[in-house]
Amino acid sequence: MENNAGLVRRIGKRVLDPGIGLHADEELTGKVRRDLLDLAYRNNWANVLVNLAASASLVVMFWLRGDLSRGTVIWLLVVTVVCGFRLWGGYLYWLVRENFTELSDALLRKWRFRYQAGVIFTGLLWSVVGLTVIPTVRGESQFLTMIIIAGMAGGATGILAPVFLVGRLYLCALLLPPAVILMVMEDASYILAALVLVFLLVMLVTHRNNHAVLFKSFVLKHQNQELIEDLKQKNRVTEDWNATLEARVEQRTEELRDLVEHDALTGIYNRDGIVAWFESRKRSDALLDYAVLFIDLDRFKQINDGLSHAIGDEVLRAVSMRLGECVGQQHALGRWGGDEFLIVLAAPHHELHPLVEDTVELAQQAVSQPINIVGHTLHVGFSTGVAFSSGRNPSIAELIHWADLAAAEVKRSGRGSVHNYDKMLLTEQERRLSVTQALRRAMSADEFNIQYQPVIDAVTGEITAYEALLRWNSETLGPVSPDEFIPIAEESALIVDIGQWCMRQACQALQDHPEIPATTKIAINVSIRQIVMPNFADMVSRILKETGLPAERLALEVTESIFEKRQTTQIATVLDQLHAMGIEIFIDDFGTGYSSLSRLHEIHVDAVKIDKSFILAMDENARVVIEAAILIAHRFGLKVIAEGIETSYQRAELIAMGVDACQGYFFARPGEMPCHDIHWQTDLIKQGDRQS
Ligand code: C2E
Ligand code: CA
Ligand code: CA
Repeated sequence: MENNAGLVRRIGKRVLDPGIGLHADEELTGKVRRDLLDLAYRNNWANVLVNLAASASLVVMFWLRGDLSRGTVIWLLVVTVVCGFRLWGGYLYWLVRENFTELSDALLRKWRFRYQAGVIFTGLLWSVVGLTVIPTVRGESQFLTMIIIAGMAGGATGILAPVFLVGRLYLCALLLPPAVILMVMEDASYILAALVLVFLLVMLVTHRNNHAVLFKSFVLKHQNQELIEDLKQKNRVTEDWNATLEARVEQRTEELRDLVEHDALTGIYNRDGIVAWFESRKRSDALLDYAVLFIDLDRFKQINDGLSHAIGDEVLRAVSMRLGECVGQQHALGRWGGDEFLIVLAAPHHELHPLVEDTVELAQQAVSQPINIVGHTLHVGFSTGVAFSSGRNPSIAELIHWADLAAAEVKRSGRGSVHNYDKMLLTEQERRLSVTQALRRAMSADEFNIQYQPVIDAVTGEITAYEALLRWNSETLGPVSPDEFIPIAEESALIVDIGQWCMRQACQALQDHPEIPATTKIAINVSIRQIVMPNFADMVSRILKETGLPAERLALEVTESIFEKRQTTQIATVLDQLHAMGIEIFIDDFGTGYSSLSRLHEIHVDAVKIDKSFILAMDENARVVIEAAILIAHRFGLKVIAEGIETSYQRAELIAMGVDACQGYFFARPGEMPCHDIHWQTDLIKQGDRQS
């Protein structure tokens, strides 16, 4: 029973359900219905014309065969009138559709009804033919009528596919009456009746399938449209979101950039800010020249350490505010770090120099006003270094570097408070750079050699020592004076390796000349940087061991800066060790540095070398210094060596004052070891030597 009921339902659905199991929602179904109606009306004229043609040919056929009756003619007239109405109805429908893109439910119902009525009416007219004509005609006429009706039904499966129930009713109206009549009439033709019924069944199935395909394709069309709409909507939402997000990201980036490019304490640009400002200014106006003012506060450390860091911060804030008032919108003010400020001025070439002068003056006036902070009245000054971009198109880093150097020069020289980083400083700087670079390769390229200058006993005229003087013949720079490259080597610590090489070379040189008396020493210049290296004394004794030179034949020349250095005790310990080994210690360039005579006893020293500047001058003042030095040195038991003696006059004076040994161009220039032609004439003291 269950199965039967299900079967009936399924058949019912196939026969009666226009959606044929497709469950579209009501709204969608409504849209599909409107599409189907449109299509039905589009097919309307074809359906009507086929009807007209078929009915006309039927009537003509009867007329030709002599079967034409009055009733048939009236039928044809009715058919023509109905067809006329249907065409007229179709025309009206398109007029309505022109005004309404979307039909209301009421309009839909109205126009569907009219269409269906037209179809059903036409179908009924053909039922009349089936019921009245088939039984009355025989033979060929009957067959031809059937063929015309069957042809009409076949065409209807496609043309009436948009209307489901009515389409099926139309098919039935066409084919059922002849089938019934063929069975019940006098000479019933069962075979033909069965054939018609089978044909009807096939047409019904075809019509249903056609309708199903139409329905599904319209459903799909609308679902696709909905999808597209949906996507468009979502796109719009995403676009809106993106726009808001972008705006927020931009705002946040702006805030972050502000944070990153400004100094937290003073609110002016920090390093990054200044660089960014410069880059963007240069991009927006390529024709401007730039000047960087490096402003370094004087004695700020005293305020910071002496009062407090909080007061130091207040001073920095006050200074930055005052500087800000001197710098226009089109220029930039930044804090480079600590107590250093930067002003970057941008202007056409001819305006830049006056602008710098004005700005410096304004800044000095503003900053020099007393600063009052919690009961303290503070006076702040500053040194300024200026660098100009003019014609060189330097990077901001270079400009700042030059201005910084110029400011440092102001501090160092103590002259004035503004210094321009001029060409000379630039060349100096570049020279230093190339010397440093060449120095790094000099050792491995074997560019060093040593010259030896004799030190002569003031009484006997014998050579008591040779001083080793380093020479550098650079492949790229040519000969470079030790006065130039030694300080640079000291800065970069290259001096440690160079000094060690020099010491080994010099010790070996003395060993290589057995004809030189065993009492003659080798004097080697040693930098503080070498002495403070761990195991310096070990290094020296290793070289002595390697070369086989007795420690007593080695003297080390150190400058007075050993007294000034913080590591005095460490230096003293090392020098003590060396002294204990038998090595002599000479104080070089005596009188120019920081040592006072009274400190000579703090370190084991064997001799002092009076600086050549005193000997070359040899005026009253120099004479006082030399005499005092000799007096005190002798009291401490030290020898005194005079270096830089160029004339016999100087030689005679110094010997008269009591120096123990002499050195200088007068006796011999630095050269090969051993030295064979020492200039040593006691009787050659001439007046003219004073000036030479
Ligand atoms: P210094 O130790 O005072 O060396 C003496 C300098 O005076 C040498 O210059 C020498 O050539 C020069 N001199 C000698 N007699 C006279 C003279 O009669 N008149 C004048 N005007 N000058 C004279 P040099 O060779 O150019 O050396 C310059 C400085 O370089 C040395 O001054 C020394 O401080 C440093 N130096 C040289 N070789 C070495 C070394 O191997 N190691 C270290 N650390 N420094 C060295
Ligand atoms: Ca020396
Ligand atoms: Ca010297």
